[in-house]
Amino acid sequence: MVRAMAGGTGLMFDDRMLAHDPGRGHPERPDRLRVLHDRWRDAAGFRRIGARLATEDEIARVHDPRHVELVASTAGRSRVVFDADTSTSAESYQAARLAVGGVVDLCTAVVAGEVDNGFAFVRPPGHHAEQSRAMGFCLFNNVAIAAATLRAHGLERVAIVDWDLHHGNGTQHLFEDDPSVLYVSTHQYPFYPGTGAATEVGRGEGAGRTLNVPLPAGFGDGEVSRAFDELVLPIARQFRPDFVLVSAGFDCDGRDPLGGLDVTPAGIAMMARACSRLAEETAGGRIVAVLEGGYDLGAIGDGVAGVLGVMRGDDRTEPLVTGDARRADGLVTRVRAAQSPFWTV
Ligand code: ZN
Repeated sequence: MVRAMAGGTGLMFDDRMLAHDPGRGHPERPDRLRVLHDRWRDAAGFRRIGARLATEDEIARVHDPRHVELVASTAGRSRVVFDADTSTSAESYQAARLAVGGVVDLCTAVVAGEVDNGFAFVRPPGHHAEQSRAMGFCLFNNVAIAAATLRAHGLERVAIVDWDLHHGNGTQHLFEDDPSVLYVSTHQYPFYPGTGAATEVGRGEGAGRTLNVPLPAGFGDGEVSRAFDELVLPIARQFRPDFVLVSAGFDCDGRDPLGGLDVTPAGIAMMARACSRLAEETAGGRIVAVLEGGYDLGAIGDGVAGVLGVMRGDDRTEPLVTGDARRADGLVTRVRAAQSPFWTV
């Protein structure tokens, strides 16, 4: 995708997702989407795609129908609390269905060749949502449902690269025994939600299809770049995905109020470039990024700008700013040891 092709880059957004209100003072607030809408609503050169309400059957591709019903039952109620971090307002169910439907439709548009690639601006986020449980600000697992839908439509192998600060426990668990979905996560560790050790590599048929890169607090561009060069790209290339989904969280940025990593926009662009290169090499350029976390508005805006620049063919590599690749020696050794039964690393 390192060039602007006929279809261009799609942007999926819909004002109705602003109406999800998880409570006063909650970091996952409507302004997170508003800054993206303000900046890109009228920006030239993108194809806009509106969101669609996903059906309960679509959501039930990965979720227990009872969980779908439980979230549906929150519609019209002023506040329902799922856990200490996760609650809904009257319009949250609608927003969650729009997030799922929008991500699925953007992926479908890429497969159909209507757009080359794209970014879905959604909330609530999804990667903590488990088969039967909302958690960590997430109601439905948007990216997991998209991956399952792509598989159902005949794509053989889907890679999910999750660079949100937090480990995507929900996504990992939904696919950990599935050899057709590679789940890759770089995340602060140990940290919320507690999962994501290097030794969690998938199980059964899915052994080797989970790649966790647990980053100590304080790691930045240099360490993350090395992890992508020496772990993420080599393994993902051997997997040869037909489609690349990115769980794009911007809480790994050093400005984020919840996180302790020190990645900069240059580091985020580096990760986007790596994912884009992977998609070019094995997936016909098919890549869709989906907003997950990120709670500093400047970091979200800068991060999305970097990803969109890469998607539109900007080849410039900015110098990395933070971190020190040499500090990643132990990390690379540990992850290699865990993955070496499955891949040449
Ligand atoms: Zn996060």
